Amino acid sequence: MATYRTEGVVLKRIDYGEADRILTIFSKNKGKITAMAKGVRRMESRKGGNVELFNHTAFLMAEGRGMDIVTEAEVINSFSQLRENLELVSYTYHLIELVDQFTEEVQENYQLFILLLEVLRRVNGFTGANYSSVTLGGEASLESDNKIKIYLRAFEVKLLNLIGYRPQLSDCVHCNRSLLPENNFFSPFLGGIVCQECVNIDSDFRPISKEAIKVVRFLQDRSWDQVEKLKISLDLQLEVEQQLREYIEFLLEKELKSAKFIERVKNTKG
Ligand SMILES: [Zn+2]
Repeated sequence: MATYRTEGVVLKRIDYGEADRILTIFSKNKGKITAMAKGVRRMESRKGGNVELFNHTAFLMAEGRGMDIVTEAEVINSFSQLRENLELVSYTYHLIELVDQFTEEVQENYQLFILLLEVLRRVNGFTGANYSSVTLGGEASLESDNKIKIYLRAFEVKLLNLIGYRPQLSDCVHCNRSLLPENNFFSPFLGGIVCQECVNIDSDFRPISKEAIKVVRFLQDRSWDQVEKLKISLDLQLEVEQQLREYIEFLLEKELKSAKFIERVKNTKG
């Protein structure tokens, strides 16, 4: 059997047979792949811990006729800190759900792989003193939670850039005129902003504030270091979150499971 080496992030795992697991991996060189990890549910399995969900792992694969087989697996980063906080786990589910939903099998997207690692490192770094206040409630917690949500929004916007669904935010998607810095309307169907002149052509446009448009534009083109310095209000973050969620769910033609999970975790905490 031919073998190959790659590294990837484990997006999904399904139990199979008595002790095996079928993994969905977003890999560096091949995009999304499905592979069988044999015997990993046995207590004594050395591979088991290396192929956990969210792990960034180095793999040696054997090409199978139907499915590739994991012959070696060694964890590179298990993002162990984020696993200790259920909210961070729920956010991480969101990230990997987006990658899983927006990618096809065996279509390399190296930039997306790098983007995923970047955001996972940032979410994982948001722990300990940085994030423990979040679970205690109060002002500091909201601020901290807002910060991490800006990272999630940046990931969404940059992912849309990389997969060809970057929303058009500088000219009206209907009349092509440059947009004025004012409240306008967003059309998921047309993939961008509709100006006030064109708003009557359809009833399906949603109002979007000029501040929210500015934030999404910023996230589209700025580096992570610049994103890190961005400070916006809780309300504005929430507006951006809702606009992006509606657009993403329109593109996927379904609701995000992770959005519901995030809400459940939040309600449990409250
Ligand atoms: Zn227009």
